[in-house]
Formats: sequence, C-alpha cells, structure tokens
Amino acid sequence: MGKNNKKKLQVPHESHLLLPAHPSCSGSEQIVDTHTHLVSTFSSYQSKYREGRYGSIFDFVKGIYTQSRHKVEAIVDVWCEAPVQKVWKELADSALTAEGRRDNWGGIEYWFVMGMSLHEAKLYTDDVEKDILDAMTHPRCVGWGEIGLDYHYDNSPREIQQDVLRRQLRHAVRLGKPLTIHTREAEGDTERILKEEVPKDYRIHIHCFTDSPEFAQRLLDHFPNLYIGITGVITYSTNLNTSAVIRHLSSTPPLRILLETDAPFMIPANLYSSLPALKGKLPLCHTAMIPWTAEFVAGVVGEGWDTEKVMKEANENAKKMYGV
Ligand SMILES: [Zn+2]
Repeated sequence: MGKNNKKKLQVPHESHLLLPAHPSCSGSEQIVDTHTHLVSTFSSYQSKYREGRYGSIFDFVKGIYTQSRHKVEAIVDVWCEAPVQKVWKELADSALTAEGRRDNWGGIEYWFVMGMSLHEAKLYTDDVEKDILDAMTHPRCVGWGEIGLDYHYDNSPREIQQDVLRRQLRHAVRLGKPLTIHTREAEGDTERILKEEVPKDYRIHIHCFTDSPEFAQRLLDHFPNLYIGITGVITYSTNLNTSAVIRHLSSTPPLRILLETDAPFMIPANLYSSLPALKGKLPLCHTAMIPWTAEFVAGVVGEGWDTEKVMKEANENAKKMYGV
C-alpha cells in the first residue's frame, strides 16, 4: 500500500502520451527525430505503466508515434551500451524492407547509429568493438555514435574516454560513417581530438548541444558539414547557451541544426502550454514532441520563422547528415 499507489496516481493516464496537434502546425512537415533511445524510452514507459496497452517496442511506436496528430517520418535510434544489446539486430532487421517498415513500424523509417558511450568508455573491449563493426555493415545503420567526452559526470577516467573516442573515430572515418558526438564540459579536448582525427568535410552531428556558443562556432567554422543537435533542453530556463547558438546560427544562414529528443528524457517545457492540465506530469519524452522544440527554436530565430519552417530546414539537414 501507500508508496506505490501514490506514485501511480501522479502519472497521467497513458492516453495522454498521444499528443494533440501542435497549435501552429498544419501537419505538412513530418517529424524526423535524429537522436532517440528507443529501448530506454520503451522501458521507461513500461516502468510507468506496468499494465500499459503497448507490449512491445513495435506496438509502442505504432501506437504513439503514428497516432499522435503530427506524423513521424523517420527516427534515428541510438545504441551506446556495453556490452552491445543483441536486440539491436531484431529491430534493424525488422525495418529492412518496405513491408517490414509498414507492418512493424507503421510506415516509419527506422534507422540507427551505434557506438560506445563515454559513460561506458571503461567497458570498451575488442569484443564490443567487433559487435559495433558488425552493426556498421547493416543497411539501416546510418552512423557511428554516440561517442565523445563528458567531463560533467566523469563516469570514466578522462584518458580512457579520450582513447576510446580516438579509437572509434578512426574506425568510423575509415568506414566513412557519419559521426554522432556527445560532448559536455570538455570543449578543448573534444575540439582538439575531432580536428586531429576527422577530415574537415566530414558529416558530424554534435548532439544535444549545451556548451558555449563560441565552441559551437569554432566547430561550425572548421567543419562545413557539422550540425548542432537541438533537444528539449533548449526550452529550459537553466540553459541559455543553446538559444545563444541558435541566434548566432540564424545570423549566418543556413540554420545548421538537427532536431532530436534524446528520449526518454527532456520533455520540451513549452509542451505544457498545449497541455496545461498535465503540467510537469508526463513521465517520458518521445519523438512526437519534436514540434514543440521546433516552435521554441522558431521563437528564438524570430521574424519570418515558424514551427514548420524550422522542421523543414532541420529535416533537410537530417537528409544531408544521415541520408534519412
Ligand atoms: Zn543520446
């Protein structure tokens, strides 16, 4: 009694995960989520809704991502755990054919990237590397990542993080795989290692960017095919850096951003202006929330921009970056 029941009461009914239409969207531009963790999102769903209606990742995606009012066109799923979760292949294989994508994914284009997360860097072994190399040959694999440096959490010693980053960068570049990079409070080392290991014209996605605008600018200047990943974090009052990056980008078009959720965390705060009764209560973030992040970006860029224009621009960038 007591504790569990209370917890349950705080979570709104799962039907609220199906989102209403975004107020400023006609629906002409579909959602592309360039960075999402599907297995974690689904297990977060399962832990919040123990008797939930969706029993598998496929049902969850078909239920929520295709039934929300704003259609999802494509997702880039991220695998970055050690050891590599074998289920990656089941999901990737299920999206190999048009029929598979229709039946399993409700027509959504399922893609993935794989790499060894900085948080797990100390677990990077030859076996893990072999698994990643194997996954790179899969037709639905569009990149290597997320990899990088995180000195905020420092879950692995910094030298190990750097070694593991270099090792993966060398493989990715050798194979011509686009890069998904995570960097947090490690500006100098990330910049130096990328410039040393990665050709200038390489395709790079700096995902969930929250570091300084100057750092973003140095990377954008050096790498012409580098994009800044924007998550719901941009909507948080604790983070002013990301908006500053957007303002800077908008003064020198094109707007080199990608939209992403990094789900299951970081629900865009402005979502609740559409759902005031649920304020702060939704238990997980998911791909269909992207239009709210786009709306916030449009507000930062200002005149002449709206939610769908931001999505359109970001979707074109996603095509250039990952071919999705
Ligand atoms: Zn991530």
